[in-house]
Amino acid sequence: PASSSPRHDQADARLLGGLLSPDIDEKSCRSRYASSQYRRPSPFRPSSYLVERLRRYEARHRRCGTGSPLFKEAVKHLRTGRNAARSECQYAVWTPFNGLGNRMLALASTFLYALLTDRVLLVHAPPEFDGLFCDPFPGSSWTLPAGFPIADFDGTFTMTSPTSYKNMKQAGAIGGDHHLINVAAEALPAYVFLDLIQSYTGAAFCEADQRVLAKFNWMLVKSDVYFATALFLVPAYRRELARLFPEKEAVFHHLARYLFHPSNDVWGIVSRLYEAYLAGADERLGLQVRVFPEVPVPFETMYGQIMLCSEQERLLPKVAQDNGAARPNSTAVQPRDGMKKRLTSILVTSLTPDYYERIRGVYRSNRTDTGGHVAVHQPSHEGAQHTEARGHNQRALAEIYLLSFCDRIVTTAVSTFGYVAHGLAGVRPLVLLRSPSPETPAEPPCVRSLSVEPCLQAPPAQHVCDVREASDIGALVPYVQHCEDVHRGVKLF
Ligand code: GDP
Repeated sequence: PASSSPRHDQADARLLGGLLSPDIDEKSCRSRYASSQYRRPSPFRPSSYLVERLRRYEARHRRCGTGSPLFKEAVKHLRTGRNAARSECQYAVWTPFNGLGNRMLALASTFLYALLTDRVLLVHAPPEFDGLFCDPFPGSSWTLPAGFPIADFDGTFTMTSPTSYKNMKQAGAIGGDHHLINVAAEALPAYVFLDLIQSYTGAAFCEADQRVLAKFNWMLVKSDVYFATALFLVPAYRRELARLFPEKEAVFHHLARYLFHPSNDVWGIVSRLYEAYLAGADERLGLQVRVFPEVPVPFETMYGQIMLCSEQERLLPKVAQDNGAARPNSTAVQPRDGMKKRLTSILVTSLTPDYYERIRGVYRSNRTDTGGHVAVHQPSHEGAQHTEARGHNQRALAEIYLLSFCDRIVTTAVSTFGYVAHGLAGVRPLVLLRSPSPETPAEPPCVRSLSVEPCLQAPPAQHVCDVREASDIGALVPYVQHCEDVHRGVKLF
């Protein structure tokens, strides 16, 4: 029976309704148990079946994990170059690609894939990725150990790699298309490379492909997209996924809160900035402005669009019309009836400081029409993306986390950085749409997303092999729709 004593409720919140195992030491990962105190309670609760499957996964991860005899055995087979006929442990090794947002979407998807196919997830962590996150599984690391037989990931896993499943199939290396399912496991190479980069997501999501892939004890996954959505379109996984995630809108939300705990170094940044910027506010508004180098929207256009969106959605506090000569906030506003004035904190994240500066300027020289206070903050302005630098990635992760503590979140279309932030938060964001022309703001300037889920921007063209090519992937199942920001993309809702 459910107890509802305050102590029980607190423990329940700390472990996110059973999502997290209590078997990880608090000091090794402070963010893991502290995050819940920084957020409103999630509107979504993990299903008891998801909780059960996660505990089972953790047991397998311990049994097959990098320190275990079974792992040594599996690595020995990997060295021989031949797949073993039968293996107690099968692995999905994830390798990073593209920016941090892309990486987190792909990693969460790979974990879901591992969960569905009874594989153990291991992570290739080059120096710029290492030290960002805590180990999420109790008792056994998720990081590939030194001395792993595959070392040159970037060189080995390219579009033209002969170990790529798609290329193997094309080359007929494993018996030609029709024989794939009949090939004996021990006749296969020691590993398969699942290349799921951008538009290549179509390569592996037919049922027949899944049955062949299941034979490989080692699978290497390289992706920069949220291919979890594609798994919901594979008929063979639908039943299990429905049990795991009765609320489709919360798939990434649960996966991300389970997997992504900022390391103590990153948590240091997050908690300091939270105290300084957000802790005292009555309302926290997150504004993520991402100007992509390949679509260089001019500042005035983007700023104009943000203001139009703000007006449409009553987002930023309005400034009073009767300002006359600009007076500083503090002297212009008298507390009404001795009531504490409402404080709105606006957290801006962007690679450049100009949006923050303009908005801060507005509230410096004008009072708000309700008399409330507005504080505007931006943690960093890095100038440009530097995914190769660890410190840069740590700051990016800290900012994704800070955004996820906000009550309302405005994101920029197409940005995976924004997807991760609102996904962690469990908030449906307002999305600043991409304009067809860089000189004029999009019309409408922003829309409320239908779902907390990230968008799979490059859906598989023929995700289910027996469905006609021309059919609309956005209309196939009732819980998938085209995305607001990328029309050919799809997302769960
Ligand atoms: P996307 O390119 O917007 O889809 O997001 P990604 O996270 O995949 O790649 C963008 C990268 O640029 C981030 O990971 C950061 O390294 C950097 N970046 C972009 N916007 C910001 C920002 O607002 N703050 C910080 N600190 N870094 C950012």
